[in-house]
Amino acid sequence: MYEHPKHPAAPGSDTPQLIDNHGRIITYLRLAITDRCNLRCSYCMPEQGVETVSHGETLSYEELERLVRLFLDMGIEKIRITGGEPFVRRGCMDFLERLKHDLGVTQLVITTNGVETARYLKRLKALPISGINLSLDTLDRERFKTITRRDRLADVLETLYGALELGILLKVNSVVSEETSDAEIYRLGELARDNGLSMRFIEKMPFSGEKMEKRRIDYGLAERLANLFPGLEPTQTKNGSTAKEFTVPGFRGSLGIIEGSSRRFCSTCNRVRITPQGMLKVCLYDNGVLDFKDLIRTGISDEELLKKIRSCLNKRFADGHQTESANGRAAQPSMASIGG
Ligand code: SAM
Repeated sequence: MYEHPKHPAAPGSDTPQLIDNHGRIITYLRLAITDRCNLRCSYCMPEQGVETVSHGETLSYEELERLVRLFLDMGIEKIRITGGEPFVRRGCMDFLERLKHDLGVTQLVITTNGVETARYLKRLKALPISGINLSLDTLDRERFKTITRRDRLADVLETLYGALELGILLKVNSVVSEETSDAEIYRLGELARDNGLSMRFIEKMPFSGEKMEKRRIDYGLAERLANLFPGLEPTQTKNGSTAKEFTVPGFRGSLGIIEGSSRRFCSTCNRVRITPQGMLKVCLYDNGVLDFKDLIRTGISDEELLKKIRSCLNKRFADGHQTESANGRAAQPSMASIGG
């Protein structure tokens, strides 16, 4: 049986910081506030959507804020709000304002598909939001409709250019699948040529919402980018970053690759997730290791909660492959219910 190594500074110690049994310091929390979405991306969920949880099964804003306070006490520096689509949940913008102004989150970022985001940009700028990750797989209206099963490209572009105009730090995330052509990649790359943004290509991961894909597909992204963008140069990758970043001569922005299926970045993983159902995930590939909703609703104290969180971090696997082989993967998960 696999024995988890124990890290000397882990639970029970006086350090307020959250450190796992492999010595990795946790500084980044990804909070999925809903599993509902206004798009139906084919690689993420089936056309009819995934079975969403009822509102009562989702953590309330009050419960989320309690958890955020606890994680801030344990040294979390960066919080990403994600989903589902965060702006589909009523009150999301007010929640962001409370996180920033009442709870004092320093680095607050959001991942959004941009469909309903343009109307909040001024308030996001005023927070100030530390950055927006915008999901956009194509600049072609028909292909956008095919991928997302919705005709909303114009709304997403309004968000993209609106954010640039306001000077909000922007990363555009584009999922590359078997159908993504070089011409498509080139067009998206041009966004980084003409604008000060980071254009990142994400390998499609085997969470399709419809069928499980066992084989790892090599999209050959590094070679394709090198061919398409002469002079492409890798830059120093930050610790904990899931992206390989590149500069290209003459580009105002940068390019990046996120190798979703290779799990190359596990050794410096600094993140944990909370799903819309209130499960703590200490690895993208676990099935949830702590049920916050249940614990909070049965009246657990902060002290007990802290102990439980630390104890989960002390049983973390070294990488996603080990997590997956130890747990198996829950049937047909969607990124929308994981918090992508
Ligand atoms: N609705 C928000 C959005 O679209 O940015 C946040 C949630 S969404 C699940 C987060 C990210 O996960 C999106 O960029 C989406 O493209 C990505 N994603 C979903 N399914 C994926 C898959 N099978 N492989 C790779 N990325 C995926």
